[in-house]
This record gives sequence, C-alpha cells and structure tokens, in this order.
Amino acid sequence: MQNVLSEAKRCLKCKNAKCVQGCPIQTNIPEMMRLFEEGDLKTAGNMLFENNPLSIVCGLVCHHEAQCEGHCILNHKNQPIKIGAIEHYISDYNLDILEIKKAENNHKRAGIIGSGPAGITIAFLLAIKGYKVTIFESHDRIGGVLQYGIPDFRLPKTILKRIRKKLVDLGVQIRPNVLIGPVLTVDDMFADGYDSIFIGTGVWNPKKMRIKGESLGHVHFAIDYLKNPDAYVLNGHVTVIGAGNVAIDVARTAIRKGAKKVTLMYRKDRENMTASKDEVAFAELDGVQLQFGKAPVEIDDEGIWYQESYLEDEVWYTREERHYHETDAVIIAVSQAPRSNIVSKSKGIEVNKGGFVKADFDGQTSRQGVFASGDVVTGAKTVVEAVKYSKVVADAMDKYMSQL
Ligand SMILES: Cc1cc2nc3c(=O)[nH]c(=O)nc-3n(C[C@H](O)[C@H](O)[C@H](O)COP(=O)(O)OP(=O)(O)OC[C@H]3O[C@@H](n4cnc5c(N)ncnc54)[C@H](O)[C@@H]3O)c2cc1C
Repeated sequence: MQNVLSEAKRCLKCKNAKCVQGCPIQTNIPEMMRLFEEGDLKTAGNMLFENNPLSIVCGLVCHHEAQCEGHCILNHKNQPIKIGAIEHYISDYNLDILEIKKAENNHKRAGIIGSGPAGITIAFLLAIKGYKVTIFESHDRIGGVLQYGIPDFRLPKTILKRIRKKLVDLGVQIRPNVLIGPVLTVDDMFADGYDSIFIGTGVWNPKKMRIKGESLGHVHFAIDYLKNPDAYVLNGHVTVIGAGNVAIDVARTAIRKGAKKVTLMYRKDRENMTASKDEVAFAELDGVQLQFGKAPVEIDDEGIWYQESYLEDEVWYTREERHYHETDAVIIAVSQAPRSNIVSKSKGIEVNKGGFVKADFDGQTSRQGVFASGDVVTGAKTVVEAVKYSKVVADAMDKYMSQL
C-alpha cells in the first residue's frame, strides 16, 4: 500500500499526459491518480471499469514498459511511475463492491462464443445494455488465456472467479464445457432465437516448426503445457524453443514446477526477442538460461539438432554444420493459430488464409448478425487490444440488434 501511495505522489499529473497517449485504451491516468490520492477509490474504480472492464487484469499483465509507463515523462530518468500497480490496486479494491447499473431487459438475445478478454468484454457491455447474454465456453472455467495460458504467479486465478461472479450477478448465463462447432452450431443458435452472435475464440492451435521429431513423447507445445502444467512430469533439463512472452511463461513455469534446468533456445539474438524486456529479466532472475543464434532443425530422443544462425545485411542466415543440444524435454513456443470448429460447421463466415475470421473495424463478419474480435480476428495480440476492439464491437452489436 505504502508503495502505491508514494508512487501516486510522485506522479506529476501532466496536463498533456503522455502516459494516456501510450495506453492503447486511453485510461484517464491523471484522473485516476487524483482520485486515488484523495482516497476516492470507488469513483476511481468505477471510472476504470467503465473504460475497461478488465482493468483489474490489465493492471497486472499489460506491457506497461511499452505503454503507459514507457511514455511517462519520468521515464527519461528511468523512474516511470508504476501506473499498472496503482491501477490494479484500485480495481482490485473495487471489483467486488462495484455497483453496475443495468438497463431494463430489452428482450433481445446475444450469444457469445469464447470467454477470453474479448468475450468477457462483450458480455459485460451487452448485459449492462439490457441484453440477455449467454456465454459458451469450451473449457470448464472462463477467462481463455487469462485462465489457461498466463501463469498464476503473474495473474492469480481468483480474479477470474470474481469476474465470473460479476457476470452472473448481471444475469449473464454461462455454459461451460461447450465447444461450438461439432454439436451445437451458429445455425442452431440463430434457430433458437439469438439475435446476434459474437465469436471471440482466440488462437488455440499451436504452430508446428515443421521439423522432424515434433511428435516424439518428450516434445510438447507451449499452449498445451500452460493449460495444466501439473499434467506433465518435467523434472530434468527442459528446453523451450521460442522468444516471445509465451516461451517466457513456459520457461518460468517449468522452473517453478521442478525442472532442474531450463534453457530457452532462439534462432536470432536478444534484441529480436518479442517477449517484453521485463519478462525476459524475470526469466533470467528465475534461472532460465538464454541461448541465442541457434536454429533447431531436428529433434531426437536425447536432444535437438541445430544450426548456428548469424545476421548479415539485416538478413538471418544459418551455417550448414549441425550441432547437438542435449535435453530431456522440449517445449515448442512458436506461436498459435485459430481452430476451425465454428467456421467449418456454419455457412457464410469467411476466414483468411491463416484461418483468422474476416471482420471489419466494428467486428461485422461476412455473415449478417455474426460479429468477431480479439485474437481470432487480429492474430495473437494482447489483453488490452482485445478489450479495445471488443468495446467497438459491443456498440456495433447493440446498433445491429436495436434495428431488428
Ligand atoms: C501464454 C500467454 C501469455 C500471454 N501473456 C500476455 C500478457 O502478459 N499480457 C497481455 O496483454 N497479453 C498476453 N497474452 C495475449 C492475450 O492473452 C490474448 O491476446 C487474449 O487473451 C486474447 O483474448 P481473446 O478473447 O481473443 O482470446 P482467448 O483468451 O484465447 O479466449 C478465447 C476463448 O474461446 C474459447 N473457445 C475457443 N473455441 C471455442 C468454441 N468453438 N466454442 C466455445 N469456446 C471456444 C477458448 O476456450 C477460450 O476460452 C498472452 C497469451 C498467451 C498465450
């Protein structure tokens, strides 16, 4: 508490606040700081929720160093205000006591497929506007990547239980363990009286590296591993292939789950890692060893064959000679793609070459009444990007259903 209070006091409350410009969802940070210092946490919390129903999550997992904090004027002294910590403090304080005003029931029905940040945002916003909202979620708990991807040590899962309660209190119905596609389809939902349907199904197919050995017994995919790390016994040397935040989450989780040694192998150099600098620093602090310039070409029972890579004229090349990296287990973290459960079973929802749902700026897909946003449209992005897009989509769905 002391920490966040002194941080808020350090804030210069700039008139032309650069932190707001750096925030993808334009959180009113100076006003948040002012209310916080006055001790009006309730007003501050309400304001944050209205602008971003997942403020409590964003305070913890946004890439603050590149966004609000990266733009803070005090950043030139390397002492940006810890804005995320203050936002989280306020939203955490306020979530359970938040009184959400709900419009009267308008007797229109919206179906939401997927309960990640995109689906949760749409559910809150449409329920508040008086729609009867049902969420269909293929997993047993809501949250998408927040529940089954981001590890607990970065995002405590109790937050999702609290968000779930808020949704249920608003009248949102949740159908867990229902994968829309094989049995129930979008067509069934329209036939049952849904006025509009939202697809926020994210990207849950791991991408292969297309090298030999990916189906061996000691090789796993990151997104599968993170769903439930306790299902794996990885207590020897684990090598993670990749350089993004997902790879870092896997490496840090494997260490916490008892791996003797964790190495992260990447074909380029540190500067090219897509993971945020903070996360990389934490991984090293946790004891993850980073190895650069190694391009895997084959996996066998005892390890990984790789070629050394090097940069010339801004292009990465590999040397022909093969080297060997011994390891007990391999986890591949080289991105994800969408699944096709829904679009293969319902007519008229177009996807692009990568399988991403085609939607315009306000989420309208090629099928009337079907909207989409989040990673399934944009490709793997961030929580705040999913929320930002979904706010626009919720308005578009409201407009569409009001005209029916
Ligand atoms: C390991 C990992 C760490 C990350 N860390 C961060 C971070 O620190 N900060 C950050 O901002 N972003 C992070 N991201 C990215 C961020 O989590 C995503 O951009 C965000 O979750 C996308 O939200 P979404 O709602 O589009 O999809 P998702 O979160 O993927 O949710 C989609 C939901 O749809 C459900 N679903 C899919 N198909 C069906 C179906 N047919 N029927 C019913 N339900 C279905 C899924 O089960 C899932 O619950 C991370 C991503 C990963 C994988």
